[in-house]
Amino acid sequence: MTMDWSQIPAINQIDLTGKRVFMRLDLNAPIKDGKVKDDTRLRAVLPTINYALARNARLILASHLGRPKGVDPSQSLEPVAAKLAELLNHEIKLSDYPVGDATQKLVSELRNNEILLLENLRFDKGESKNDEELSKQFASYADVYINDAFGTAHRAHASTAGMIPFVQGPSGVGFLMHKEIAALTHLLNDPARPFVAVLGGAKVSDKIGLIQNLLGQCQSILIGGAMAYTFLKALDLPVGASRFEEDQLPLAATLLKKAEARGVKLLLPEDHVVATEISAEAKTRIVTDKFQPEDMGLDIGPRTLATYSEIIHNAGKVFWNGPMGVFEVAPFAAGTRAVAEAMAKTNAYTLIGGGDSAAAVEQFGLADKISHISTGGGASLTFLEGEVLPGLEALRLANPPKKD
Ligand code: ADP
Ligand code: MG
Repeated sequence: MTMDWSQIPAINQIDLTGKRVFMRLDLNAPIKDGKVKDDTRLRAVLPTINYALARNARLILASHLGRPKGVDPSQSLEPVAAKLAELLNHEIKLSDYPVGDATQKLVSELRNNEILLLENLRFDKGESKNDEELSKQFASYADVYINDAFGTAHRAHASTAGMIPFVQGPSGVGFLMHKEIAALTHLLNDPARPFVAVLGGAKVSDKIGLIQNLLGQCQSILIGGAMAYTFLKALDLPVGASRFEEDQLPLAATLLKKAEARGVKLLLPEDHVVATEISAEAKTRIVTDKFQPEDMGLDIGPRTLATYSEIIHNAGKVFWNGPMGVFEVAPFAAGTRAVAEAMAKTNAYTLIGGGDSAAAVEQFGLADKISHISTGGGASLTFLEGEVLPGLEALRLANPPKKD
């Protein structure tokens, strides 16, 4: 069963005029030499901020940056404030600390159309601890609460979950988060069949919950990446020196049995690109089952790639997480590229979750041909695992269904 998130209003369903709008954003951008190195996350939330500015709201922006243990000037949001001000072409005030008397004063002095950015929320230890006092202080700044930080929705922190029940006025999501929820819900609810999942990457152990839940939803699961070798090994098939997880073998065997019992086709690679080293100059061979002891499987082979591409082509909807090989190194990129190309070409609804898989489609220049690429790796996987996202759940509880 999937939850109904449609009762959570989007920012454009809430009256913001002249209101103090507390906006939880993900401004956790990489910083180098006191400057924002990659402003992707900042640009992603501009529509939400601009929408509120156009309605003359008083904006209180909030985000974490890195993992500081208490106040740490090297993890200040200052570079973010500067970059965001430039992108918005709008002045931004930055507080010294997320809460407290001085911050309180800045909030009360805010006028329509002004922006205050709270300093790195994790400077206060209560943020990650979901502290109730801190939650109440945040809530006291807000006439309206908007969350547009999907990447942190799987965490129960003061700014993402704890404060929501204490906010006096309406609460909802920004455009980015709205799009993420709509896409993930669509993936699960769209009746198109077959539902195909393509799973790869480094470890089975990272993705157990995901595989379990997808077994109840998908008709086919295509396995690649290092993960494949744990499954092949569990079937007592040769894997040479390929990377596998010894302690996950029993679980892999159980998953294979479950798939069979449910009639889900769980496909493993029929052939492999192997080498004895991971380097751009590595000599590669194609192997079906004649692994030499020193052979490492580093990508799916040409037959597997053709099979997987065909299945993606004929799918009704496709979810992809985890590269098919060590795509960062050219001799082992073909399998991941083929999957990315098949995803781009198919008429199926296509969704990609996971940092490295998203980076791969970007690298191949195919990102704009994918129906949706989730920005929140951990959050999107938690969603598809069927787990409750505390950030979303708090918003759902604050917005009970209307009775007519
Ligand atoms: P995502 O970020 O998309 O969820 P993961 O983080 O699970 O993906 O896995 C990505 C990593 O897995 C990549 O760095 C890739 O090089 C590695 N990988 C893929 N296939 C193999 C393999 N056969 N052997 C070793 N590493 C692999
Ligand atoms: Mg990764």
